[in-house]
Amino acid sequence: MLCTIPSATLDGLDGARVSVEVHVANGLPAFTIVGLPDTSCREARDRVRAAIESSGLEWPMQRVTVNLAPGGLRKVGSGLDLAVALGILGATGQISPELLAGVAAVGELGLDGTVRPVRGVLPMVDELPEPRVIVSAADARVAVLGVGQRARPVRRLSDVVDALVEGLPWPNVEVPLEVGVEPAGPDLADVRGQAGARRALEIAAAGGHHLLLVGPPGAGKTMLARRLPGLLPPLSDVSARLVTRVHSAAGLALPPSGLIRHPPFRAPHHSASMAALVGGGSGQSRPVEISVVSEGVLFLDELGEFAPRVLDALRQPLEAGVVRISRAGGTREHPAQVLLVAAMNPCPCGEGGQINCRCPPASRTRYAGRVSGPLLDRLDVMVHVDRPAPEALLNPARGETTAAVAGRVAAARSFAESRGVTCNAVLSQQQLDRHAMPDSAASEILYVALSAGALSARGAMRARAVARTIRDLDDDGDDGIRAGDVAQAIAMRALPPMGGDRVDAA
Ligand SMILES: [Zn+2]
Repeated sequence: MLCTIPSATLDGLDGARVSVEVHVANGLPAFTIVGLPDTSCREARDRVRAAIESSGLEWPMQRVTVNLAPGGLRKVGSGLDLAVALGILGATGQISPELLAGVAAVGELGLDGTVRPVRGVLPMVDELPEPRVIVSAADARVAVLGVGQRARPVRRLSDVVDALVEGLPWPNVEVPLEVGVEPAGPDLADVRGQAGARRALEIAAAGGHHLLLVGPPGAGKTMLARRLPGLLPPLSDVSARLVTRVHSAAGLALPPSGLIRHPPFRAPHHSASMAALVGGGSGQSRPVEISVVSEGVLFLDELGEFAPRVLDALRQPLEAGVVRISRAGGTREHPAQVLLVAAMNPCPCGEGGQINCRCPPASRTRYAGRVSGPLLDRLDVMVHVDRPAPEALLNPARGETTAAVAGRVAAARSFAESRGVTCNAVLSQQQLDRHAMPDSAASEILYVALSAGALSARGAMRARAVARTIRDLDDDGDDGIRAGDVAQAIAMRALPPMGGDRVDAA
């Protein structure tokens, strides 16, 4: 007898519908699974058999063939276990096939018959329009985001039989409704002093401008970067769902409400491979780092230590807001809408030419050169971060809070929205001409910087966008930018002193 249960597998960031066809026929007992299962999927036999027997149900001593359709799609992981088990129960008449009509299932089985959560349940259930979608109770809150009241969370395989055959109620799994309170990130009030860096952080958040922090170890660069997501507006409904989907596909922890409402933060180590960060090669099975942190903050500490080709590979997605991933079936576009914050020491030893610096000038120059010009060109706000002064550290007064700064950021972003963009960093040339026209004094400054070669044509555009943000933070909705804004913006495009010749000159 044949029984088909709809299920799904993960295909990169997306779910893909899979029909699990189970055929049970007389013959020598055997179990065959076909249709491009990966190793873990192939092992379904052992888990499903043990789960069925532990649940007091019967494993057929017959020839069982499982076909996973469509055949051309690679099936990954253990999420098809539950559908295979239900297919066997249906094909052997232990659950009448009519009762299984309109039932889809995604879940892994434990040997004791428990139904376990799987990675990527949200993108997977999105592919299942059936009136009842059975998932693990542990996946309930995420599945509900996808299929709402159609979700049927269960703890054990026997729960499904009880509900379908015995007519008992489905298990009552508490699903937290909508937005629980996510723990707030660290607060900017903890940062003592650092006026310049705070200002840079605020401008970066308000305009969506990529940021570079340069300073010695212990200056608090990481501490500052971690406080950037808190300054960004909470995610819109659409973004929240997108981010949650990607996190689900990546198998990362989700908040109690299931839905991620805050911009994510990720800080991949400088040894991260290009494949892990932006993809590369084929058969990418997990979402790349730049997609996981889409709509949030990507922090690259020790920028100079990243492999140059990895940094080069970042440029295109930063520019386009999407990353192209090559897969067996062709190229896919995945989200990569990130705010980049990079940090680096001013020189290999970190002291940057100050009294304690042990680096010969040549090695300092080489170090600064490790970060390629084209990537630097994408970092619109650069700032030097020094170790906080002793008096700032001893001063008991707390700095301005995240909430206060986030308020100004939100106001600035609403100006950007009135221009039809989410933030000023993505204003086009045309939009800049309309909304960021330099007045005569500002034009003069740009002219001088361009003629002296201090700014490229592209750099001048970027500087105007930053100047626009500076103006917006002053709560001034007019369409022009002024000399002061432009001068600040240009100053922030220059790499802060990387040691220079302060020591050599002495
Ligand atoms: Zn040094």
